Amino acid sequence: MPNLLTQLFSLQNLKYTKYSGVFQILICAKILGHPTKNQFLEVPNNFLVVFFFGIMYNIKNMKGCVTMEYRQLGKTGLQISRLGFGGIPIQKTSAEETKTLLRYLMEQGVNYIDTARAYTVSEEYIGYALQGVRDRFVLATKSMARTAEAMAKDIDISLSNLQTDHIDLYQIHNPNANDLEKVIAPGGALEALQAAKKAGKIGHIGITLHSVELFQRAVDFDWVETIMFPYNIVETQGEALITQCAEKNIGFIAMKPLAGGAIDDGKTAIRYIVSNPAVTVVIPGMATITEAEQNIRSAGNTSPLTETEQSTVEAIGKSLGSNFCRRCNYCAPCAVGINIPVMFLLEGYYNRYDLKDWAKMRYAATEHRASDCIGCGACEPRCPYNLPIREMMKNVTKIFEA
Ligand code: SF4
Ligand code: SF4
Repeated sequence: MPNLLTQLFSLQNLKYTKYSGVFQILICAKILGHPTKNQFLEVPNNFLVVFFFGIMYNIKNMKGCVTMEYRQLGKTGLQISRLGFGGIPIQKTSAEETKTLLRYLMEQGVNYIDTARAYTVSEEYIGYALQGVRDRFVLATKSMARTAEAMAKDIDISLSNLQTDHIDLYQIHNPNANDLEKVIAPGGALEALQAAKKAGKIGHIGITLHSVELFQRAVDFDWVETIMFPYNIVETQGEALITQCAEKNIGFIAMKPLAGGAIDDGKTAIRYIVSNPAVTVVIPGMATITEAEQNIRSAGNTSPLTETEQSTVEAIGKSLGSNFCRRCNYCAPCAVGINIPVMFLLEGYYNRYDLKDWAKMRYAATEHRASDCIGCGACEPRCPYNLPIREMMKNVTKIFEA
């Protein structure tokens, strides 16, 4: 019942209330034979008729509406919507389009925004879009800086790009094992984050990761308030640790809900994630209102999956299962230092997300590329999914270096 009442009077239903107003007038005209305003107001029973039909109309039209669920983001104490906004795809739009999209999401109750220093213009577009409504959102960004000096610089750039005096959550962006050592060592990026937190420039500190081993380490760091990790129908390798996050009051942010664009059925993909109560927020990338609408509808239903949905999930898993990199990193170390899952991740951005220029730029910035592969085959027996890594490397080379 509280849900019903919330929906009935929520902002989302204002349009239905407006339509129901017109409906009410028509009903009155029908019943009363075109009464004047005063005649109408004089008859108390008419109010009941109007109220009854108005409410019925709202209920009838609420089928397509959703109520956004909110959760506490772990130790941060921030209250955030179960659906967040992933800021990668707006790179292919404009600042004005980002503004339209974010205002729409705001009206629908989405209040969590994720971006990164590495997403080219994403921070800037979001900064422009949030003018005048900054406080309606919990704002999270991240940096790949590993030293205190570089991180301090990046925090200031993020503040300037986002046109704000504070960022709610600042994350260490995808460190590998060596990077993580640098980050936590004296003079490492963590020092700058803690100083920025003290100074009020950032509110909380989080980390984003792709390897299960580092995820396992991160849940034991007392400074970690949130962890972002891939989680979707075909990447469930972090599931036990996601439950640990909930037990340790660490906010869990599910990234790559569509497995880097490999899953076409966005509705089932989002439903799968939000049906897991240990997930605090899921952050699908969105660039259009249509995408946002679908995500909002899917995230609005957080109940356990139905049998039909469960079968769909299994079918998706089967169809992608044989030739898809889950970024588990079991294939490491590569004989020549290639970060194997990153190669396949960038290929996905190139092919499936239509972020060709950005993917090319990221690929060019990697120290060891797919073309460095010497075909030794050492990685393949370590891949639990038996991926033909050598062949896949050739394909990545063709895409980025042809
Ligand atoms: S086959 Fe290529 S990717 Fe695999 S370990 Fe050898 S060099 Fe690295
Ligand atoms: S290639 Fe295999 S082992 Fe390596 S990250 Fe992908 S799925 Fe895991």
